[in-house]
Amino acid sequence: MDYKKILEEIAVEIEPLRHVGRQADYIPALAKVNPDRFGICITTTDGDVIEWGDVSEPFSIQSITKVFSLSMCLSMLGEKLWSRVGKEPSGAAFNSLIQLELDRGIPRNPFINAGAIVLADILLSNLADPEKDYLDFVRELAGDSHVDYDREVAASEREKGYINAAIANMLKYYENLDNDIEDVLHFYFLQCSVRMDCRQLSRSFLPFADRRSEFLFGSVRLTASQVKRINAVMQTCGFYNDAGEYSYLVGLPGKSGVGGGIGAVYPGRYAVATWSPRLNEKGNSVMGMKALELLTTYTRESIF
Ligand code: GLU
Repeated sequence: MDYKKILEEIAVEIEPLRHVGRQADYIPALAKVNPDRFGICITTTDGDVIEWGDVSEPFSIQSITKVFSLSMCLSMLGEKLWSRVGKEPSGAAFNSLIQLELDRGIPRNPFINAGAIVLADILLSNLADPEKDYLDFVRELAGDSHVDYDREVAASEREKGYINAAIANMLKYYENLDNDIEDVLHFYFLQCSVRMDCRQLSRSFLPFADRRSEFLFGSVRLTASQVKRINAVMQTCGFYNDAGEYSYLVGLPGKSGVGGGIGAVYPGRYAVATWSPRLNEKGNSVMGMKALELLTTYTRESIF
């Protein structure tokens, strides 16, 4: 498969979308990013790296971090995790408060904000040094010790994080948060603030595509069956209330973030990361989604 040639064709085809959509600005620090960027990087299970565009510019991975949090929580708690958070697509906005109330404090899935705030609480309770242990794990996955939190983005989100604070308060009311609300929010925003470029993100998703090696990074060990299940949750819940559309168009387990990034996997073959800050109305990268749609169309490689 000539991925290089395919990426070049895709780049030409999506160019007219470069100014379509709006970057997230509800987190003030994200509004400062140049929105007219696009990068894509494929890392294959054979170790090849194929890339195009702005692949070495770090961006805020935001909700993509929830895949890493889920991996840690599943490795620590196993199936018990699902008593605190569900695994059904939400069909609602990623920060919906109404749904959490109707579900009486059990978030619909780990990839909406409420679910990821519960994951942050679990990690706070179970890790010896949560900020360090989390970052160490993400660095190991990315194979790069330069990956770091962006404390300015985290502080900026905390300052305006009224809805996430409301979600955390509701979780506490329903006794689904063990730790102090402020501590949980601080850690959640920090996780979302992790900065990576497309190369690092693609590499950090490779273990979710690789069916040959064991998933073992530091103390985080997942069975092949758990990796399969994380992919399943990505497929059904990874794109907020756009998950059906994303599945229909792309057909690869993936996770998006409001920083404009997407990480996705073609199990057994490759991981791919895209980044372009302009988002559609559901919060997903316009160029990124189109690029992945064309990738699976041109290669005829998808899980469907
Ligand atoms: N930190 C963001 C928030 O909580 C993450 C949202 C996202 O990327 O979907 O609103």
